[in-house]
Amino acid sequence: MSKSLEHFLDEGLANLKEKGLYNTIDVLDSANGPEITIDGKRMINLASNNYLGFATNPDLMQVCNEATDKYGVGAGAVRTINGTLKIHEELENKIAEFKGTEAAIAFQSGFNCNMGAISAVMTKEDAILSDELNHASIIDGCRLSRAKIIRVKHQDMEDLEQKAKEAVESGQYKKIMYITDGVFSMDGDIANIPEIVRIAEKYDLITYVDDAHGSGVLGKGAGTVKHFGLSDKIDFQMGTLSKAIGVVGGYVAGSQRLIDWLKSQGRPFLFSTSLTPGAAAAAKKAIELMQEDDHYVQDLWDNANYFKEKLQAIGYDIGKSETPITPVILGDELLAQKFSKKLIENGVYVKPIVFPTVPMGTGRVRNMPNAAHTKEMLDEAIAIYEKVGKELGIIK
Ligand SMILES: *Cc1c(COP(=O)(O)O)cnc(C)c1O
Repeated sequence: MSKSLEHFLDEGLANLKEKGLYNTIDVLDSANGPEITIDGKRMINLASNNYLGFATNPDLMQVCNEATDKYGVGAGAVRTINGTLKIHEELENKIAEFKGTEAAIAFQSGFNCNMGAISAVMTKEDAILSDELNHASIIDGCRLSRAKIIRVKHQDMEDLEQKAKEAVESGQYKKIMYITDGVFSMDGDIANIPEIVRIAEKYDLITYVDDAHGSGVLGKGAGTVKHFGLSDKIDFQMGTLSKAIGVVGGYVAGSQRLIDWLKSQGRPFLFSTSLTPGAAAAAKKAIELMQEDDHYVQDLWDNANYFKEKLQAIGYDIGKSETPITPVILGDELLAQKFSKKLIENGVYVKPIVFPTVPMGTGRVRNMPNAAHTKEMLDEAIAIYEKVGKELGIIK
């Protein structure tokens, strides 16, 4: 190994470990369902983003297998060579129909969708107004575009309006975009889409909503923008096929012109092999299930409301989430880590979330109750929360 690489790695790893930022990775020996096993130990799983339980849904598994039988395991090429199969087109049409837009484009992940879509439209002559708590993939996509990035205070619409006004009046930029998460993943708050639309119309902002945590959850599953009835007012409705949809992939839904542009300029679309046929078929089926039957989304909300009420009743601070994302806020970073470790030992799998993912002093564990949990599992989790919280003196 190169001496300089060796030095870089040794120093970097030691530094991470010293700061408590080095990730150890737990390996599941089961599917990522409502219960999981790790090293043979069964636990109630409150850590996944599998909102609707679709990751292990038998109907999705069946269409995945059927598409694999028909098309094979891989798409064989990038989309623009000959890796566009009928199932990709069917998936994109289904996404557009569900989102209420003219068209849609699918990418291989939500992360590379943000990398590809933002940089296909924004250039170094432009500016991007970006909520300070936006997801890492948005931040990286904005950087890649080389546009001027202007941070906007979290969900602060006065700050957005002020900064939009300044950017327009400066006359320095050809285009200005506002980009935001639809639902913020750490606190579960919902973007103020009506106010964003008003400001965007006043200052001619391009609007981009990353709905990774809103799709499958709000608007009868169709997402945050649909929840507010504003599907025709947001330019980019971006989402992922890996969270509520339960599979893998990302997409943008929008006007036909926008999608035509992204299909000729989105670099991951042009230079990275397309979604596997099985993944495309399963993702399409997930949307069909939501359209046919509202019980998946309903079960998610019932479980989330049930779980939140019980946690609050035994004395936990669960923040101000407006969605199923349920933080238990402890404040102290070390306590959050200790708490999660104890919960895991007792059979509830949850992860600590600390600085720099959330502000210093707001350390927490984050719970993601989903549609596949039974009331018995949630009750068992609550009993463990009560026991561990009392042991650590967090609740009385
Ligand atoms: C998870 C997430 C992504 C990335 O999606 P993947 O499909 O997992 O790559 C993008 N944006 C937000 C807000 C996310 O939470």
